Amino acid sequence: MGEQNLTEDQRAILTSIRGFLDKECRPHVRRWDREDEYPAVALRGFREMGLYGATIPEEYGGLGWDTTTYVLTIMEIAACWMSLSGMINTHLIMANAVARFGTDEQKQRWLPKMAAGELRGGLALSEASGGSDVAALKCRAERRGDHYVINGSKMWITNSDGNAFFLLCKTDPSITPQHKGISGFIIEKGHPGFTVSRNLSKLGYKGIPTSELAFEDFEVPRASLLGGEEGQGFYQVMGGLELGRINVAARAVGMLRSAFEDSMRYSQERETFGKPIWQHQLVGAKLADMATDLEASRLLVLSAAKKRDTGERCDLEASMAKLFASRAAAKHALEAMHIHGAYGYSTEFDVERYYRDAPLMTIGEGANDILMTVIAKGLAKKFAS
Ligand SMILES: Cc1cc2nc3c(=O)[nH]c(=O)nc-3n(C[C@H](O)[C@H](O)[C@H](O)COP(=O)(O)OP(=O)(O)OC[C@H]3O[C@@H](n4cnc5c(N)ncnc54)[C@H](O)[C@@H]3O)c2cc1C
Repeated sequence: MGEQNLTEDQRAILTSIRGFLDKECRPHVRRWDREDEYPAVALRGFREMGLYGATIPEEYGGLGWDTTTYVLTIMEIAACWMSLSGMINTHLIMANAVARFGTDEQKQRWLPKMAAGELRGGLALSEASGGSDVAALKCRAERRGDHYVINGSKMWITNSDGNAFFLLCKTDPSITPQHKGISGFIIEKGHPGFTVSRNLSKLGYKGIPTSELAFEDFEVPRASLLGGEEGQGFYQVMGGLELGRINVAARAVGMLRSAFEDSMRYSQERETFGKPIWQHQLVGAKLADMATDLEASRLLVLSAAKKRDTGERCDLEASMAKLFASRAAAKHALEAMHIHGAYGYSTEFDVERYYRDAPLMTIGEGANDILMTVIAKGLAKKFAS
């Protein structure tokens, strides 16, 4: 559906990714999900295909894809298993922050390794006391000579199996507004004072670790401060969240596509009262609604991606796409289960996984309530009288 406007390159990329997913991943997804097993095969494959460098500029060894090509890929990956798309999302938000705000030295030091998937990253923003109110974060970084000492903790950090993080800390807790006291650091694992203190148990989004990180007198050199200037962390991360929100919206589209295709297939095979169930008006209406929301979500995601590709800020479009697509995914994951009847509730079919995976997309990269406030602010700015 809707692939008629793709370029030759995009078609070739999607064909190759589909081939990899069908052969190496799809046959194992139910087991990976059930056993909460890390998809090591996907890690190797994504590295080989260069996906860890998808949006990293070519001069640093990345593929230099535009946002549109990237989200088309994410939709395809999430249609196989939503968790797989999470492996590269926060990694690329971190890479985006380095590429946009890093010093030349920082770009040379981190981006080529990130593009190769040698340095795999995550985004460490949220804390136990809150994720929405980023400005109120408490993790503290104190300057001592030519290094910083970090104390505090982070919560819900995905890709904690990786070896690097874009970490937000308070460098000045006294300043108002609070967000001006936040700085961004690129930190690496393997040094005293930094531990992954526990892995968190989740309803869905299995296979990919989401963890708590603890910092106790963790020393980092001053060169870890992104851009070399304190007080810039909030701005650095907010720019990256546009990409993150488009990514999450694209994941919702991919998952919804699978829920729709499964429902379509099942409703043509399953018969009750002497006919395939899609011919019962109420089941047909669910399918019509699902397909319409799928197409609308897809178009919103591609429109937000296109705007980002012009170099303009796209908070409004990215938030709208994520709000609409994640709501649609959550609503229709349940409808897909209804269409499958008892089988939808069984672990022999994939729809119960969609039902467990979908709500994450209404929470991550900005809870939907917060996105509605972002949209309202964006509208007020756009329609300023
Ligand atoms: C599986 C998973 C993976 C994650 N991965 C990461 C990660 O890699 N890195 C990272 O930093 N974070 C990550 N998060 C955290 C995620 O970004 C936060 O959960 C999210 O930002 C919401 O924060 P919170 O859970 O603290 O909710 P809170 O901020 O406590 O909000 C609770 C509720 O109140 C609502 N609310 C809060 N303030 C307002 C307001 N002003 N107006 C209206 N409603 C409001 C929210 O919408 C929400 O419904 C992850 C979360 C999950 C579940």
